[in-house]
Amino acid sequence: MRPAAFDYLRPTAVAEAVRGISGSDGAFFYAGGTELLLALKMRVLRADRLIDLKRIPQLDRIALSERGELTIGARATHRQIEESALVQQVLPALGRLCSQVANIRVRSVGTIGGNLCFAEPHADPGTFLAALGARLHLVGAQGERMVAADEFVLGEFETARRDDELLSHIVIPAQAGPSAYRRFRHGERPSVGVGVSWRLAKGGRTIETARIRFGALGPRPQAVEALEQALGGVETAKASGRIAELLPHALDALEVISDRHGGADYKRHLAATLLQRCIADAHQAALGGRP
Ligand SMILES: Cc1cc2nc3c(=O)[nH]c(=O)nc-3n(C[C@H](O)[C@H](O)[C@H](O)COP(=O)(O)OP(=O)(O)OC[C@H]3O[C@@H](n4cnc5c(N)ncnc54)[C@H](O)[C@@H]3O)c2cc1C
Repeated sequence: MRPAAFDYLRPTAVAEAVRGISGSDGAFFYAGGTELLLALKMRVLRADRLIDLKRIPQLDRIALSERGELTIGARATHRQIEESALVQQVLPALGRLCSQVANIRVRSVGTIGGNLCFAEPHADPGTFLAALGARLHLVGAQGERMVAADEFVLGEFETARRDDELLSHIVIPAQAGPSAYRRFRHGERPSVGVGVSWRLAKGGRTIETARIRFGALGPRPQAVEALEQALGGVETAKASGRIAELLPHALDALEVISDRHGGADYKRHLAATLLQRCIADAHQAALGGRP
């Protein structure tokens, strides 16, 4: 099916893009189009206007601040992130995550911003960004604001983004320890994704704090506080054993939807296995000094 007719804007600045969307119910930003064009063709969505983000410089910039924060432009494609020498150096787990998204065709045009804003629950980046404590920067007619990755996805295809707001970039704080992401899939999209990041105490042998997020199980990435708390003060080499004591009951707290990716019990089992693998990855990274 072909989409219904729409206007097409090609702004060259963020402010122009935001003006283009303000006051229009049927206007959408258009980045890679891998989700949007399909939805328009299937007429699940109807657009009066598309605002193409491809000509706005800086929106695909990947950079490191003096404070060690990694900034990723919303229009950076999965492929750009996967291939970025900077990402490979400071946050290789994010590069690996992006290299596993979809297939090369989707990765070459699909953007991290489009992924986050579409909020399809079977997605990878939002889970790991929440585990990393990332911030999402939004620009709208009312000005700029920042939303924690943890608070961005509200439900299936639903985010904290206002209709007139553009996601401009994502900031990932400097990591004071290793991180890891693992996912399982039997189709194109993940059935379960698990992200872990640790802040290590001085000396690098002990976990000071842990962040763990489970994705694709329910409408949004989820945390299990009992697991995070259990890792505080634990040596990285003993983390796996500590978690094993709490699994699988700790995962009963997760909201898990049975769907074509599997039943809830099966997904909880996968989540437990992936968590243990993430812990092994993080421990190895801590030994090797690579996040
Ligand atoms: C076959 C297939 C397999 C896939 N497998 C995976 C997978 O394994 N893991 C995974 O995580 N994802 C997967 N995806 C999803 C894929 O990652 C997304 O389709 C892609 O990242 C979306 O980016 P886009 O630039 O194409 O977004 P678009 O389709 O251009 O936009 C999507 C939505 O976001 C809005 N939007 C886009 N950019 C912005 C912005 N900067 N600010 C505000 N709103 C914006 C648009 O208006 C639209 O509503 C898969 C998709 C396909 C088609």
